[in-house]
Amino acid sequence: MPRPIEALVHVQAIHHNLNRARAQAPDARVWAVVKANAYGHGIERVFDALRGADGFALLDLAEAERVRALGWRGPILLLEGCFEARDLELCSRLNISHVVHCDQQIDWLASHKTHQPHHVFLKVNSGMNRLGFVGPAVRGAWARLNALPQVDEITLITHFSDADADRFGQNGIAHQMVAFNAATQDLPGERCLANSAATLRHLAEAGVRADWIRAGILLYGSSPDFPEHSAAQWGLQPGMTLRSQLIATQSLQPGDSVGYGSHFVAEHPMRIGIVACGYADGYPRVAPTGTPILVDGVRTRTVGRVSMDMLSVDLTPVPNAGIGSEVTLWGRGPHDSLLSIDEVARSAGTLGYELMCAVAPRVPVHVDGSLG
Ligand SMILES: *Cc1c(COP(=O)(O)O)cnc(C)c1O
Repeated sequence: MPRPIEALVHVQAIHHNLNRARAQAPDARVWAVVKANAYGHGIERVFDALRGADGFALLDLAEAERVRALGWRGPILLLEGCFEARDLELCSRLNISHVVHCDQQIDWLASHKTHQPHHVFLKVNSGMNRLGFVGPAVRGAWARLNALPQVDEITLITHFSDADADRFGQNGIAHQMVAFNAATQDLPGERCLANSAATLRHLAEAGVRADWIRAGILLYGSSPDFPEHSAAQWGLQPGMTLRSQLIATQSLQPGDSVGYGSHFVAEHPMRIGIVACGYADGYPRVAPTGTPILVDGVRTRTVGRVSMDMLSVDLTPVPNAGIGSEVTLWGRGPHDSLLSIDEVARSAGTLGYELMCAVAPRVPVHVDGSLG
């Protein structure tokens, strides 16, 4: 028998979350961000749930080819653009839009032979300071692109570093909107602005004109500004469940310890359960004692260190649990129970993003539900 662990991808939830993004930005077109294999959910698995988006945004051409192979004829955007000159051939052939964030990418375009002009997204560095042109250089890059026969449309794009929180006593995008608007003033073309956090928190603000938004994490049902808002408060539903079972139980006496390093020592007599899930499945090894977890849909806590293939749970709140009891690491549990991936991530000092992307290849993934 295979190990009882599995991941479920909830396609109705992802479809629902896309509609949430639309409702939040009724006048904008929506890029469904499916980089990192749809944040670990699998591009092929989520495609039908997301085909109502206006386009798919991702990182590399191999992912773009997979989206085209699914029959998608609409827009596709490479969020970091081309990594080498010959990537442009595939962009031409597959009709893929791409970010242009540096002079070298413009040089590549200028020497590219194509019959099909490209739709480029000119990246403005408005304060994130990773990619893009700053201040007056934006105009220079725009003029160079505009003069190229290889280019037929230029959209202006920027990315926010603090859309999930306030900064300098203002909302977290205000300082970047000032920089973006100054750098792009009078330049024609559409604007592609908001990630999930900005979509949920900032789109209604004056001066924020987004013709396109880029919805990533919200599609998968994790809150970009947890714990200020939970996914449920944003009306999002979990896109993934990671679940397993108890494969053993132990009765501890006071002074007995659990797992490597004896990190947890029982103070009272207690029962613990051993779960078939460890860090080699993608569960964070750094999750400390006390990380929330569900057994038979009842909320309890992990105890001791997470090991490669197993972790331990306190069975005090679930006295009837035993071998075979269902364990929910995150997502949906039995009897309508729910454990937010964001709570688990927070306990481990990380984000829902990292956990969903890290589910290991050895975990079988199944699609739950249908879009009927
Ligand atoms: C990943 C990414 C997004 C999506 O961000 P979320 O926080 O997941 O919504 C948007 N824009 C760019 C440029 C990205 O790289």
